Amino acid sequence: MPAESSPYERAFAEFLGVDHAFAFWKGRVALYAILRALDVGQDDEVILPGYTCVMNVNPIVYVGARPIYVDIETDTYNIRASLIEPRLTPRTRAIICQHTYGYPADVEGVLAVGRRHNIPVIEDCCLSLGSRYKGQPLGTFGRAAYFSFQWNKPYTTGLGGMAVTSDAGLAERIADLCRQERQPPSPRETILLAAQLAAYRTFIYPRTTALAQNAFRWLTRKGLVVGSSDTAEFRPQMADDFFKGIGPVQERSGPRQLGRLDRAIAHRRRMAHRYDELLAAHGWRPTSLPEGAEPALVRYPVRVADKQKALDTAASRFVELGSWFECPLHPIETPLEAYDYEPGMCPVAERACREVVNLPTHPRADEATARRSVAFVASIGPAPPQDTS
Ligand SMILES: *Cc1c(COP(=O)(O)O)cnc(C)c1O
Repeated sequence: MPAESSPYERAFAEFLGVDHAFAFWKGRVALYAILRALDVGQDDEVILPGYTCVMNVNPIVYVGARPIYVDIETDTYNIRASLIEPRLTPRTRAIICQHTYGYPADVEGVLAVGRRHNIPVIEDCCLSLGSRYKGQPLGTFGRAAYFSFQWNKPYTTGLGGMAVTSDAGLAERIADLCRQERQPPSPRETILLAAQLAAYRTFIYPRTTALAQNAFRWLTRKGLVVGSSDTAEFRPQMADDFFKGIGPVQERSGPRQLGRLDRAIAHRRRMAHRYDELLAAHGWRPTSLPEGAEPALVRYPVRVADKQKALDTAASRFVELGSWFECPLHPIETPLEAYDYEPGMCPVAERACREVVNLPTHPRADEATARRSVAFVASIGPAPPQDTS
């Protein structure tokens, strides 16, 4: 690790088993740093799954590159490795391998394509901190990886992101960028974030009710939650203060969250196992995972017959139902054409957007949560079967 790295960065690198970690204001900023350090720029192309959030596409556009969308696997919602090669061009400069919900992607398949064409693979671990593949943590397979610590990610520091790599040359380039361009958050942002985190820990975190969730979403929409996504970020134009590091609140909170992570991961695994059992008893087909996958799910995805009805009625049944992703570039308000996504490009992903809701696995969810949530989705019913070949 470079001498100037912080205790939190060193603790994170050690937890994951990588050589270098760099903390940023958000996960998307970490991706931006990685793309810049890999020299991805004007008119280059970056491959990513057509089942992601638009905040993840913005950094690609910010460096002047074009996003190229590839369809996903039916069961893991991750990029389908066999569809990558046909989309490669001489301009392809990176492949983003997102591990959706915490399910490991077909890491070997994606890495093999990268190796054959000498294109670096960047792992998007924003939803998958704690998941493993063949005994090894996600985020240690590609040339680099990035993580998010926003409030509904595997752990939260209010906002936050981390870029990691064990490639010494790449680490040196990220360190240079940080020295030259990384700004500290403003005092106002620091104070707002501290207040938000305190409110979250007091009012949102202890409760699992949909009500508390809805209240937080409402505050977010009203712009009362610092740095939450607002429509301003749909303009693919980088704000002057985009490239930020973390402040004292995140620096203090991060190592504490890391210290609790092993227990949280064990809990998420138990919750997913219960959902597997309960849903199977109600007629859902078991999820088929790549061999050696040990997921720690940040949310448990399930396909339902009538997604709109599920979303409309969940709160009244005290079910904390999530809806990632509502369209190939979440959220539903994203102007897809501005991001070079044409409807029909990724049919499996588009179908998933219409069918998938997700259930809580966080530390406050328990057996009663699992039973209540499954009884609710069972009342809606499973989505019709589909060809998974
Ligand atoms: C949340 C998320 C991001 C972006 O993280 P931020 O910290 O919000 O910038 C990127 N990719 C995926 C898959 C995410 O879920």
